[in-house]
Amino acid sequence: MSVTASMADAPIANVLVSARGKKSRPSTCCREKTGKKLTVTISREKKRLAPLLSLLQSRPGLTVLRDRAGTGPPEDNWYRIKGGNDLLPKAFAVRLSEKIRYGAPVVRIEHDAQGVRVVFLQADTNRTLAADYLICAIPFSVLRHIEVSPPFSLGKQRAIRELPYKSHARVSMQCRKRFWLEEGIVYADTDLPIQRIFDITHFQPGTRGILQSYTGGPDARRLMELNESERIRFTLEQMEKVFPGIRENFEGGISKIWDEDPWSLGASSWYRPGQMGELWPHIPRPDGRVHFAGDHTSAWIRWMQGAFESGNRAAREVNEAA
Ligand SMILES: Cc1cc2nc3c(=O)[nH]c(=O)nc-3n(C[C@H](O)[C@H](O)[C@H](O)COP(=O)(O)OP(=O)(O)OC[C@H]3O[C@@H](n4cnc5c(N)ncnc54)[C@H](O)[C@@H]3O)c2cc1C
Repeated sequence: MSVTASMADAPIANVLVSARGKKSRPSTCCREKTGKKLTVTISREKKRLAPLLSLLQSRPGLTVLRDRAGTGPPEDNWYRIKGGNDLLPKAFAVRLSEKIRYGAPVVRIEHDAQGVRVVFLQADTNRTLAADYLICAIPFSVLRHIEVSPPFSLGKQRAIRELPYKSHARVSMQCRKRFWLEEGIVYADTDLPIQRIFDITHFQPGTRGILQSYTGGPDARRLMELNESERIRFTLEQMEKVFPGIRENFEGGISKIWDEDPWSLGASSWYRPGQMGELWPHIPRPDGRVHFAGDHTSAWIRWMQGAFESGNRAAREVNEAA
């Protein structure tokens, strides 16, 4: 087992470099040897990467690199909302309370040149809402299971069907005291199947603390095969290897796996090599009177910022079209 643990007062940059020192595979053009082939490959690569370059223009390069490097240890300049990040959607919910319908999954979208109709389920009954335009912010992982009539353009259909979603799992372990602070360790990047471990209560007052595992990919899917108590037991065993003492301090745990959440069916979208050029141009593009928002339609995939920016963009599109 190898562990890169970060000390609370260690220089963040060093920690990130050692934690994220994996070598990436050389790109196709670096691997080509002959001059002619290299030129061809580069221009092909350039064309293929054009959508990525256009995305990069709307985001500072360093931000993209930081994002690609993954999440690191808790930093003093991490921003969060005092009282909990869920205060943000709750603040929207208060302002929009009369317009929101909870527990009402959309099951069908109908659209034509005159308007849109959305069929949703409420108390096991189909209900319909009609409007001039629709802004669809449902993740593509869910949208691909929703009937659309008439079907969207072929490019949009393909993007909705093929855009991959990452699997992520978090298991939170509440401890009666933050025994790990005695050694100053608040974060560990490991090669264990639970992957990363955070002290998510690091900047919070109180004596109790929560260590949380943050697991992605196939490891997260394997965790999904276990029931809740098996997940907690497994995580406890794994965390004990990095944070000896967790057993004596453990009070209770809870897991969340985004693949099994019917409202998201995955944690966040991403692109396999070659997919961005094929899929991206169709993702934010309106289809008739249906407009698209959500972080998956923005340059800020996996960030709330992407949800906001794309929401503004879609609202602007509707204003301009109306
Ligand atoms: C593990 C994890 C950690 C993250 N950490 C951060 C972070 O530290 N900072 C950050 O900025 N971002 C973070 N994010 C990303 C952030 O949560 C997303 O970028 C943001 O929530 C995207 O907002 P959205 O509106 O596009 O999508 P969502 O928040 O997924 O909203 C989609 C909405 O569609 C609804 N919906 C789904 N299906 C239907 C249906 N059939 N009918 C009607 N409604 C439906 C859902 O209920 C949901 O309300 C994290 C995400 C994950 C999974």
